Amino acid sequence: MGKFEDLRKQMIDYQLEARGLHSQSVLEAVSAVPREEFVPTDLVEFAYKDTALPIEANQTISQPYIVALMTAALELKPWEKALEVGTGSGYAAAVLAEIAKEVYTIERHKILADTARSRLQDLGYQNVHVLYGDGTLGWPENAPFDAIIVAAGGPVVPEALKQQLAIGGRLVIPVGSSLQTQTLVRVRRINETEFEQEDLGAVRFVPLIGAAGWEDEIAETPAKEKIEETLPELIYKSSEHFARIDQVNLDNLMERIGGSRIVLLGEASHGTAEFYEMRARITKELIEKKGFTSVAVEADWPDAAHINQYIHGIESDPLLESKPFSRFPTWMWANHSVLEFSHWLKNHNDNLDSVNEKVSFYGLDLYSLFSSIEAVLGYLDKVDPATAEVARTRYGCLMPWSDDLGMYSQVTITKQYRECEEDVIATLRDLLAKRIEYSQADGEQFFNAEQNARLVKNAERYYRTMYYAENNSWNQRDQHMFETLQSVIAHRGPKAKVVIWEHNSHIGDARATQMSARGELNIGQLAREEYGNDAYLIGFGTDHGTVAAASEWGGPMEVKQVQPSHIDSYERVCHEVKTDNFLLPLRNPLQQITRKKLLAERLERAIGVIYRPETELQSHYFYACLPNQFDEYIWFDETRAVVPLTKETSKGIPDTFPFGL
Ligand code: SAM
Repeated sequence: MGKFEDLRKQMIDYQLEARGLHSQSVLEAVSAVPREEFVPTDLVEFAYKDTALPIEANQTISQPYIVALMTAALELKPWEKALEVGTGSGYAAAVLAEIAKEVYTIERHKILADTARSRLQDLGYQNVHVLYGDGTLGWPENAPFDAIIVAAGGPVVPEALKQQLAIGGRLVIPVGSSLQTQTLVRVRRINETEFEQEDLGAVRFVPLIGAAGWEDEIAETPAKEKIEETLPELIYKSSEHFARIDQVNLDNLMERIGGSRIVLLGEASHGTAEFYEMRARITKELIEKKGFTSVAVEADWPDAAHINQYIHGIESDPLLESKPFSRFPTWMWANHSVLEFSHWLKNHNDNLDSVNEKVSFYGLDLYSLFSSIEAVLGYLDKVDPATAEVARTRYGCLMPWSDDLGMYSQVTITKQYRECEEDVIATLRDLLAKRIEYSQADGEQFFNAEQNARLVKNAERYYRTMYYAENNSWNQRDQHMFETLQSVIAHRGPKAKVVIWEHNSHIGDARATQMSARGELNIGQLAREEYGNDAYLIGFGTDHGTVAAASEWGGPMEVKQVQPSHIDSYERVCHEVKTDNFLLPLRNPLQQITRKKLLAERLERAIGVIYRPETELQSHYFYACLPNQFDEYIWFDETRAVVPLTKETSKGIPDTFPFGL
């Protein structure tokens, strides 16, 4: 199978069928249309992403799922005639043309109508007829139509379209009184005078402009701009401003955090110094003023264990001598901000007598399958050599894939090789069965081995499903992080208080972002579900500056310029606030009106370890509802790249390729 056919197949499985779209004719039609031919050439690599993409004339090619959903709602038959309003790229017209006998499609932008016409012709679609004009008036010369689909959002259902429906015909259109969001509506013509109407759910489309749509001027100057004029002022009044991280007064923040036991600190990129430094500042106060004793971060367990050993006086250097964090992206943890924080933690622990009060440092991530295997075997060799031999044989099942875990996923799907699930579960079970015996000798070492064995179990499942279920493996990763958090809490005692450092996309509640439509959850959501108000979620953001990131997976770290934020983003609103740095409480806002106005969804930027400014909108922005995503938001208008300890990198597993969050 070619690359695009492969991606198209995955799109059908995971974007359409997984969401309950089972219409055979629609699935076949979508399978037959090469979407890559309908997107701008510089965005071809995103052709099968679960999202709308920009095309010429400031318009969009709709998200594949929406095209499929609307087509299914039309209940189109092979002998029928369909009308589409809003040709755009011509993609949806091609999908319709795979099912219907004739397709008529109208576009109000000449450039789009002309391009779509010749594109469809080149692809051999002889049953599609493209007209340049106002589609809200329909195409009376070719009426009646058995099905009409409108691909732009209007204020009402245009009367002319209803009148051009055949008896029994279906009209599917997004309708809404705001330019931002609409309800997808299906109108069915019962007879000459009667129509039936059903709601099919909330959607977001570009505006339908025309005689029975929005007026051109209103649509071009959205009401939103008016809100954005006042929103930065509201944020200014509802936030606490500060000039420098080392001088910011965090007393009010500590009060807002109150008795929360889990504080999750985010970051909008994996390579911004201010995010590390501010998280260190807040964590120090949580440790000193609120008795937090655990820091858990988005790093692999064995790597974080070196920092833990250092801050407990067992190892002499946290980041350099033992060379942890040597997997790509090294700069994420092997950087000067983390080193400084590790020294602070060590100093803090050195001044405490009680072991229980000392702070520990843990890794929540699961990309260390083989070093975790080594750690488990090393432990068992010391405490129980016979069990170590059994474990060595069982873990041997995974060894053929030590250079390329991506292959493990592929060979187990095709059943060429056996799965290692049973083996890794059995090793963890054996270890847990001897908890009392083993942990008598050294509880900390047992806990370390137990977590590594748990990691191996979860990583095996993660890699096994990575190839064919992208969102499922994301969920497995975040579930592993949450499971590890719970193990840490169980280990440190029921009153344990934990600070978590992870990317915003992990710690901000997934239900308030586009992730949830893809069936994805994250540790922020799981923490809220489990701990309610005892979990406090803090997101971070920036407008411009520099960031440490790579251009591709496994590539060298570069210091890149962060582009000024997108006009429709939360970042742009924050950038327009007339102060540079601030803390914005969202759970208990200083003014309710600010929170209320922030509820309207906007774009939000996420930079992982890869940053691609050239395709920033597609690669790094998603829709979110900020006040539902976070309990508090911390803003730095201008930021700078973290300083790595070493420039060495070794290629790691392409875990969250291509964006590495
Ligand atoms: N179906 C398209 C595709 O597959 O690429 C996506 C369409 S895009 C979401 C909506 C299109 O509707 C835009 O190209 C816009 O110019 C067009 N449009 C808006 N109002 C229109 C009108 N009154 N008549 C015709 N086209 C209109």
